[in-house]
Amino acid sequence: MIFLDAAATTPVRREAIEAMFPYLTNQFGNPSSHHELGELAATALERAREQCAEVLGCHAEELTFTSGGTEADNLALKGIALARRAADPSLNRVLISAIEHPAIVESADYLRRVHGFTVETVPVDSTGLVDPAVFAGMLADSAPGGVAVASIMYANNEVGTVQDIPALAAAAADAGVPLHSDAVQAAGWLSLDVGSLRVTAMSISGHKVGAPKGVGLLFLKSGTLCEPLVHGGGQERGTRSGTENVAFAVALATALRLAEAGRDDAVERVTALREAYIGQVLTGVPSSRLTGHGTRRLPNVASFVFPGTSGESVLLELERRGIVCSSGSACAAGSDEPSAVLSAMGVERTVAQTALRFSFGAGVTAAELDTAAAELAAAVARMQRLG
Ligand code: PLP
Repeated sequence: MIFLDAAATTPVRREAIEAMFPYLTNQFGNPSSHHELGELAATALERAREQCAEVLGCHAEELTFTSGGTEADNLALKGIALARRAADPSLNRVLISAIEHPAIVESADYLRRVHGFTVETVPVDSTGLVDPAVFAGMLADSAPGGVAVASIMYANNEVGTVQDIPALAAAAADAGVPLHSDAVQAAGWLSLDVGSLRVTAMSISGHKVGAPKGVGLLFLKSGTLCEPLVHGGGQERGTRSGTENVAFAVALATALRLAEAGRDDAVERVTALREAYIGQVLTGVPSSRLTGHGTRRLPNVASFVFPGTSGESVLLELERRGIVCSSGSACAAGSDEPSAVLSAMGVERTVAQTALRFSFGAGVTAAELDTAAAELAAAVARMQRLG
């Protein structure tokens, strides 16, 4: 099998498994316990937090371990919106980009339905990019109320478009609005340095960088108001109660550091392979079109539409041929709805239903991609023949 679905998930790195093993076995303490076993766990948790902080260029106290990217997104959007409006009732607007992951879209919808916030969508162009000037205009808009929080993802999970986060964060800072960015797909491929990105909050997920599923991180710049969503024993400095998953935090720190250490080499190698693959696909399937931005895109994502086919049937045909990828609507599994991301980019409904995403791990090889491009051309030709 050739696995070209690394944006969905990655295998856990051996080093991460080895690093977390002791905290699942002989050093199984609860970090809140006041005995040696507890203190060993607390020390490991804080070391993991410091190691993650080094990768993000922030203070360890600015990081909260979560159960993944979804929880980090929920905590950022709901937590900041609710806390800021509690402090200033005029802050009742929430801005999110038109191509956010469901973790942000549904959190915003919850804030609208249950808490009466007004949710406004920041548009994207046909490549999936938000124009910082348009965003600045919306922030300055005279609509009643101020903006409690804005969220614009760093890199899109379906088409790989990378936003100009520093420019968007500068616009938000000028308007005095905290900007959250979902960096789940960026991790391992783009710089996560929060000082240069200038974001107020940022989400990371472990299983996209070689840590297990079910662990993530939220960066919250110190001084940011954020209402906890999970109440209890006050762990994670009160931001997220519940006994911490020490083993997974250790695995996340290990995987994140290794991904960061290998990032420059991986980006150079995989970008070249991606460009070659895009060329092969566009030549091999003349009716295909690349989706997303030509250059501002994740090194490891190549996404296309294949008008005249059905994405789902090409996906199945490819799997039969040993190639695993994802259709545009992977996040809305079981739904026939075309991707909201492609719709926001102006791709017509019938064409959006033909989308496929190929996403590569750092170890992908030229031979694998040559095979995938040839099988893809054959699979599309077969599906077109079958009508
Ligand atoms: N945000 C983006 C952009 C993602 O791609 C994903 C997962 O695919 C998530 C959030 C959710 O992360 P998790 O699976 O850790 O909950």
